Amino acid sequence: MTGTATEAGKAARLLATGMVTVRTADLDGRITADVIGDSGATWTVHRTAGGAWACTCPSAWYTGGCSHIAACKLISAG
Ligand SMILES: [Zn+2]
Repeated sequence: MTGTATEAGKAARLLATGMVTVRTADLDGRITADVIGDSGATWTVHRTAGGAWACTCPSAWYTGGCSHIAACKLISAG
């Protein structure tokens, strides 16, 4: 698996290259964003009002986290 530093770097790169598009955000903390991954596929990242993150990509499915979620955390309260 990739280390934290690698994931953080990838997350920053996703943001810097315009791969993250926030679709919705509300005052309860819910966020929905589309993130274009390295494969060119678009994954949907979601944050619940309770602060739980989810992503539709396989990495999040298997490990509970991914660079797409990490990218969205960089532009939110975490
Ligand atoms: Zn993901």
